[in-house]
Amino acid sequence: MNEKSKIYDVIIIGSGPAGYTAAVYTSRAFLKTLIISGPTPGGQLTTTSEVDNYPGFPEGILGPELLERMKKQAGRFGVEIVNDEISNIKYQISNSNDKNLKSSFLLAGSSNVYESRSVIVSTGASAKTLGIPSEEKFRGKGISYCATCDGFFFRGKNIAVLGGGDTAMEEATFLTRFAESVTIIHRREEFRASPIMVEKAKKDSKIKFLLNKEIVEFKGETTVKSIKLKDTKSKEVGDFPFDGFFVAIGHKPATEFLKGFIKTDDKGYVLINDKEKYKTATSAGGIFAAGDCVDSIYRQGIVAAGMGAMAALDAQKWLETQELS
Ligand SMILES: Cc1cc2nc3c(=O)[nH]c(=O)nc-3n(C[C@H](O)[C@H](O)[C@H](O)COP(=O)(O)OP(=O)(O)OC[C@H]3O[C@@H](n4cnc5c(N)ncnc54)[C@H](O)[C@@H]3O)c2cc1C
Repeated sequence: MNEKSKIYDVIIIGSGPAGYTAAVYTSRAFLKTLIISGPTPGGQLTTTSEVDNYPGFPEGILGPELLERMKKQAGRFGVEIVNDEISNIKYQISNSNDKNLKSSFLLAGSSNVYESRSVIVSTGASAKTLGIPSEEKFRGKGISYCATCDGFFFRGKNIAVLGGGDTAMEEATFLTRFAESVTIIHRREEFRASPIMVEKAKKDSKIKFLLNKEIVEFKGETTVKSIKLKDTKSKEVGDFPFDGFFVAIGHKPATEFLKGFIKTDDKGYVLINDKEKYKTATSAGGIFAAGDCVDSIYRQGIVAAGMGAMAALDAQKWLETQELS
């Protein structure tokens, strides 16, 4: 089927909490909606087990189940979903006879081109990984990339934070609420983190430092038990046991394909216009953005869902003005 023959009111790029929530709102407003689910249908929460902090689930819920429920809810109102990944967006002045369609967006997927009057970008972000042996094996089995999400599961434990930037200092300080001790492991003596954050961490009696240590590999059976480190000065190698590890070396928003089309900051986070009436509007009229691809601070499912609702309401309002003018 040539998808270009169909023109949607809203295409939502991404199927995480932001995308599915936006879809519930747009489809309940009778806007013809398509979700393009991308390389990770359901988004980041499908890669975790227990989610304890999403409201409405007093006993907690498994990440994949939560997203399956969101998908089902969006489906109830007639949202279409395709498994594709967008690599490019173009703007075109319409040659259609439809008086409400003065312009539209063409979204290039791997085998189809999709056309829409408005777009919501909710492509999320991913935590940067260390790229060392056994990191993937122990992901979620003692290795975490989110202190806010998983700190609670490490109550009374001895844990390590890997990194030397502001994220590492912030995560380490936050984790002292739960852990018996938090050790920051960094490959140098100097930190990229701001001096004030480093000072704060140094003053905390629960935080220790293992410096000039290069990470070699994680070790364990089914869950991670220790980390092999190489001293960058003495070249000595040793095993250091911990109950858990938090990798805190930053995140990368999935916005490469938008380069040059909408404005992003230097890290690739989409810039939204939070002062004007459409709070989720990007630099391109008719394109809105929500969730972790915008938000470098909170990075939580419920925040992404809330922003998804905002983007949907903004898109709906914007489409109405297009029809009136
Ligand atoms: C291991 C882990 C555990 C977590 N635990 C919690 C928790 O307990 N509680 C909590 O609130 N938060 C948690 N988070 C954070 C939470 O997952 C994110 O804040 C949330 O998923 C962000 O939602 P989003 O919709 O913005 O993006 P994402 O969930 O990242 O979804 C992005 C979507 O965009 C799609 N996409 C990307 N590029 C393209 C493209 N080019 N074309 C089409 N589609 C594309 C992807 O396939 C995906 O479907 C956790 C994160 C991780 C990694």
